[in-house]
Amino acid sequence: MLVSGLECLRCEQPTELTPESYLCPRCGTGERASDAGILDVLYDYAAARKGLLGANGDADLFRYLPLLPVEERGQVPPVGWTPLYEAPALAGLGGLDSVLLKDETRNPTRALKDRATAVGVSRAKALGYEDIYCASAGNAAISLAGFSAYAGLRAHVFVPNAASEVRLGWLARFGADTRRSSGDYDFAFDEAEEMRSRGWYSRNCAFNPFLVEGKKTAGLEIAEQLGWSSPDLIVCPVGDACTLAAIGKAFRELTEMGIVDRLPRLIGVQSRATHPVVDRFDADRGRPVAAAGPATTTAASIDVKEPRNLTRLLNELERSGGTMIAVDDEEIGAAQRELAERSGIVVEFTSAASLGALRRLAEEETLAGQRAVLILTGGRPDDA
Ligand SMILES: *Cc1c(COP(=O)(O)O)cnc(C)c1O
Ligand SMILES: [Zn+2]
Repeated sequence: MLVSGLECLRCEQPTELTPESYLCPRCGTGERASDAGILDVLYDYAAARKGLLGANGDADLFRYLPLLPVEERGQVPPVGWTPLYEAPALAGLGGLDSVLLKDETRNPTRALKDRATAVGVSRAKALGYEDIYCASAGNAAISLAGFSAYAGLRAHVFVPNAASEVRLGWLARFGADTRRSSGDYDFAFDEAEEMRSRGWYSRNCAFNPFLVEGKKTAGLEIAEQLGWSSPDLIVCPVGDACTLAAIGKAFRELTEMGIVDRLPRLIGVQSRATHPVVDRFDADRGRPVAAAGPATTTAASIDVKEPRNLTRLLNELERSGGTMIAVDDEEIGAAQRELAERSGIVVEFTSAASLGALRRLAEEETLAGQRAVLILTGGRPDDA
């Protein structure tokens, strides 16, 4: 393993690397839910560069083993190496040269979440755990449930009270121990975290520092699929903020290793009902914070009021010159229909927010000649 150390994103101090490292021992869970001492995994980048360019050819995320915190492929189904392809119907939007779809719906449980689960389950098995838990609006739980069924782990999943019958049905199919919270996702997260003391392994992607490394592989793939270069824009829905921040980290590591020559601008999208990252991004720039939107959103997978990996994403947005956009459910719904009717791909409601945000951005600025990537984070229909 080429992991060289851990550094806290909150106090910026290095901390001891152990197999069980979790939050920063100095900062702990911080003062607010979005303020925990989240650790960042660092690597021996000179050695990783050699390993990466002599790629092992695996057609899944383990092709990036030199930049992953695992010794070897674990007992997991193939994840990642998903296609990146052009949507001809979207070319020309805002003057864009091309719009590429990163189709994460092709993962084993049809969501990008499988990337973090692959790393979490690999580590849990290597460390001898039999139980693994997570809090989730649905996709992380379903992913963990499916992978646990494959690997012979017991999955314990904590979901919000409002979790749909459809999502509960998927958890039941995979045989997970499902705990329906009396509160929202943020409440379920706290309930789940109490279970670490029982000796269960955490698949909470923000807090367990090793898991975001799995999500990072989506970014590494995009770069490799573009011939080791960067697109101009990457658009992705934001909940706890792990996914887009991890993609940002991928490109930052690749620029530091001299493999790509610039960072893509990261464009994060949230719903007008729940947009804490948009608010924080605007407040940090002295901009007025948007008026309160509708009370609820159908974009369940990003309905997170206390984004656990906020600091990580704010850092990556700053470095990449990125921005945050809030969109209405009407825009998301229209984007979901458009992706199906004009690009032939069915995504879950939340995922379509990427296209909604790109349309917004195109109204605000000229994107002439640029290349944009939409991360289609999930493909399980919301009602089936
Ligand atoms: C979890 C999820 C996201 C957001 O990922 P975060 O890491 O929580 O920001 C976006 N889309 C879908 C479909 C998801 O399941
Ligand atoms: Zn710290």
